[in-house]
Order: sequence, then C-alpha cells, then structure tokens
Amino acid sequence: MLSGRVAAVTGSTSGIGLAIAEALAAAGADVALNGFGDPSPALEAVRAHGTKALHLPADMGNAAEAASFVAETLRHFGRLDILVNNAGIQHVAAIEDFPPEAWDRVLAINLSAAFHTIRAAVPPMKARGWGRILNIASAHGLVASPFKAAYVAAKHGLLGLTKTVALELAETAITVNAICPGYVRTPLVDGQIADQAKVHGLPEDQVVRDIILAAQPSKRFIAPEHLGALAVFLASEAASGITGAALPVDGGWTAR
Ligand code: NAD
Repeated sequence: MLSGRVAAVTGSTSGIGLAIAEALAAAGADVALNGFGDPSPALEAVRAHGTKALHLPADMGNAAEAASFVAETLRHFGRLDILVNNAGIQHVAAIEDFPPEAWDRVLAINLSAAFHTIRAAVPPMKARGWGRILNIASAHGLVASPFKAAYVAAKHGLLGLTKTVALELAETAITVNAICPGYVRTPLVDGQIADQAKVHGLPEDQVVRDIILAAQPSKRFIAPEHLGALAVFLASEAASGITGAALPVDGGWTAR
C-alpha cells in the first residue's frame, strides 16, 4: 500500500513511534528512525518487514537538529512522503513546583519540534505534490488533567498547529492530522505511573487502577499496533479527504 514511500518518524526507538514505524514498514514504506537509546533493536524490527531503515540521532529538543532530521532523511532517501511527529516526554508536578526548565523541554520536544520538522518537510512535499503529516498528540490535546501543565499545553498547541497547517495545505494533496491516544503502556507511561505514585503517595498498582485507567472508560490500555494501523490508514489514498482532524483513540476518555 505504501511501497515506494519514505516515512520519517521522530522518537521511534521505543513505544508508539516504533509501532508506527513498524506498521508503515509492513505496508511497504522505507523509514528514517529517530530517538535515544540503542537503535539496533528498532532497526532490526523495522528491517524485518523487508524495507530500508536508518536511524538518525537528532535531539528533537533542539530546533536545528529537528529540522536536520528532515534534511538528512531527504539526503539519504531522496524523498520524504510521510512525516510522523511522535517524540514526546512528560513531566508531572504541581504548577507551583513545576521547574521552568522542564516546561521549556516539554514544549520544545512535544510542540516546537513538530513546527521545525513540518516547516522543513512542506517544501519537498509540495514539490512532489503529495504528503502526509501525522502529529501524535494525546487525549491531553483535547482535555486536561492536573499536574501536567506543560504536556497538556504542548498537546493542545500541537492540535492548533495541525489545524493551521492543514488549512494552509488544504488545496494540495498533503494532509495534516493528529492522533490523540489515551493511555498506552509504554516506557513513558511507566514513568508517569512512578511519578504519580510519588505525588499521591500510593502504590503503583493502585495508581494504574484508580488514577491512570480511571480516565479511560474501557479500563484497558490502547495497543500500540492499533495506532500503527491508524497511521497506515491516514497515510493511504483512502484517507485523502481527512485533514485537520484530531482523531481520539482513547477507549472513550474524551466522550465524557
Ligand atoms: P516512549 O517514552 O516509549 O518513547 C518516546 C520516544 O521518543 C523514544 O524513542 C525516545 O527516545 C524519543 N525521544 C524522547 N525525547 C527525544 C528527543 N529529545 N529527541 C528525539 N527523540 C526523543 O513514549 P511513548 O509513550 O511511545 O510516546 C510517544 C508519543 O505518544 C509522545 O508524543 C506521547 O506524548 C504520545 N502519547 C503517549 C501516550 C501513552 O499513553 N503512552 C498517550 C498519548 C500520547
């Protein structure tokens, strides 16, 4: 379905980004991976689908490096068809204790990086006359929770960026959409469970039951591979009429 396409996925050495990279590769796309840690397992997982993959170590917290991720993908593969802005971090603290440097870092990685990659990716997509931009936001792009000021602000901002660029590109064949997952059990959520346990003084299993999944009516974590399947659909021709959308995959969370 996506053979001949090239995808670039930020933050794809782990979690949701890796699941999306694998799903795009399984659909036939070559993939530029990005993210911290040893990239070998992610590269192997993606290459197992028979497509090409490389890893580019850009720090999405740095504007120039975020833009260079797109430039390096273009240099290596000669094209970029599908950009997935997925890299993200969390910091959990009450507003009066929220460290300003944590605010800056969350905003830089979860919001500004998408501005820098999109700004770099749109000219080559326009030149080819086709493109797909997917921003991995969150249910927290649509609703808030306490103690997550920077994350909630960044994800709400990411939906604003998604809608604005979608409108700017609406007459082209480039679509821009956001996926808004509820809780997915990844290293990022494991970190939040530990942080919330500290903030509330509760054991971790009670945090999962009474705090994390309390927001999610299904009472089940979202499967990363289901987000991969949605990314493949949004990258397909069948989704060419969907742009500027924020699609919740949240077990009913934002239906409340
Ligand atoms: P994760 O921690 O498993 O993976 C995050 C990835 O981003 C890793 O590959 C990490 O190396 C990379 N990364 C972190 N900082 C980076 C930086 N500065 N530069 C480049 N790469 C960086 O997290 P995840 O749960 O898979 O989250 C992925 C995205 O999905 C995030 O944007 C997150 O906000 C969003 N999300 C997650 C959940 C969830 O429940 N897990 C829910 C909603 C939205």
